[in-house]
Amino acid sequence: MIHSTRSQDPVLIVGSMAFDDLELPSVDAKDVIGGSATYASLSASLFSEARVVAVVGDDFPKQAVETLASRGVDVEGIERARGKTFRWVGRYAKNLASRTTLDTQLNVFADFRPKLPAAYRASPYLLLGNIHPALQLEVLTQVERPKLVAADTMNFWISGERPTLLELLKKIDTLVINDEELRQLADEHNVKRAAARVRSLGPRRLVVKRGEYGAMLFDDHGIFFAPAYPLEDEVDPTGAGDTFAGALMGYLSREGTLDESSMRKALMVAATVASFCVEGVGTERLVSLDRAQVARRLEDLRTLVHFGH
Ligand code: AMP
Repeated sequence: MIHSTRSQDPVLIVGSMAFDDLELPSVDAKDVIGGSATYASLSASLFSEARVVAVVGDDFPKQAVETLASRGVDVEGIERARGKTFRWVGRYAKNLASRTTLDTQLNVFADFRPKLPAAYRASPYLLLGNIHPALQLEVLTQVERPKLVAADTMNFWISGERPTLLELLKKIDTLVINDEELRQLADEHNVKRAAARVRSLGPRRLVVKRGEYGAMLFDDHGIFFAPAYPLEDEVDPTGAGDTFAGALMGYLSREGTLDESSMRKALMVAATVASFCVEGVGTERLVSLDRAQVARRLEDLRTLVHFGH
């Protein structure tokens, strides 16, 4: 299922690059390299060429960008601006299932205007990672008819920038969000009803991430469910959602089709890659991950859900 070559169809990823301060049950960690674009590009690059458009401040370590490049990520679109890098401060509950944002400092993101390098404009797969929806819209005006446009968002933007987000929803094919965000966006607790409501706002396809309860795909074919890989050592779920979205896009690009079977496989692969993210603080597990490890865990997941005919 996971071949050895990477796709030649690049995935363009726009999102945040960040310093995260994390209060985890097992450890407090400061200045952890994070951000939606960081996680998504690391996971997409397992399957496909990934290109990043993001901004960092002059305090962002060169080494962190070099790490992305060493994993095969095209970093030409990462802008270094004067000022401080975006910072997110989060506290996790003991069970890791819920978290509270303690602080969001936009810093260089406040004045960021994404400008795609000419070579990026024809990228066939576009992932609008979690970032201000106005920036997501700005990127959309600069691309040339991608095969697939997927977007992610989070509570911060759903409550703070709802009108702009609704505008974005009309222009994307696929929305990838977690269940809490889905409920908030749809103003409806029931996931099935909320999914129908959000699909009526624009995206034909909706992928709902439900943490340890797996992920669901809602599209014209109905509903598909991918379980989460059961982990023994859950350390830090930060970025698992972005990792999921990046792997989904990278895998779809490698498959080259968007049919139902590819979508289903992509969800299983994305669930598998996201599970690795949770095993380390920040990106620590992802930066050493390879496709052979993903393939092995994917087979475990297959065994887990097999129940004969
Ligand atoms: P996830 O755990 O997948 O929801 O993603 C967590 C990552 O999102 C962290 O690394 C943060 O730096 C980043 N993040 C948190 N809040 C925002 C925000 N409002 N806009 C963009 N990125 C954010």
